[in-house]
Amino acid sequence: MRTCPNCGHENGENDHFCSNCGAQLDAESSGTSVPDQLTPPTSQPSNVIPPPVDFRAAPGASVEEEWRMSSLGPPPKRKRPLWLMILIGLIAVCLLACVALIGFSLTDTGQEWFSDIATEAAQQATEQAN
Ligand SMILES: [Zn+2]
Repeated sequence: MRTCPNCGHENGENDHFCSNCGAQLDAESSGTSVPDQLTPPTSQPSNVIPPPVDFRAAPGASVEEEWRMSSLGPPPKRKRPLWLMILIGLIAVCLLACVALIGFSLTDTGQEWFSDIATEAAQQATEQAN
């Protein structure tokens, strides 16, 4: 039994039109299905849009964290001062030695000492040449 949506008249199951008012009995069933099909597409885009935003936000946050981690990279260098102090100490010793040699070379005894070394080196060079 099909009840007419327009007048409520009961018609046969095989009747496509109401025998009382002539309203189309199949129209309501097909008409109600259309809105149900239209509503999902409208709701899906709204649900699809947020994920890309989250995916875009996630890499950006990770990159910012990587930058922050790279900016936080110097903390490991806080352990390097031990090496830097040793290197600076060695360089300072070398510089002091160089300065001491230069200062010593400027003195009379230093010039004589370097001249003696130069003469000895020249003598050794001549001996090796011969
Ligand atoms: Zn009817």
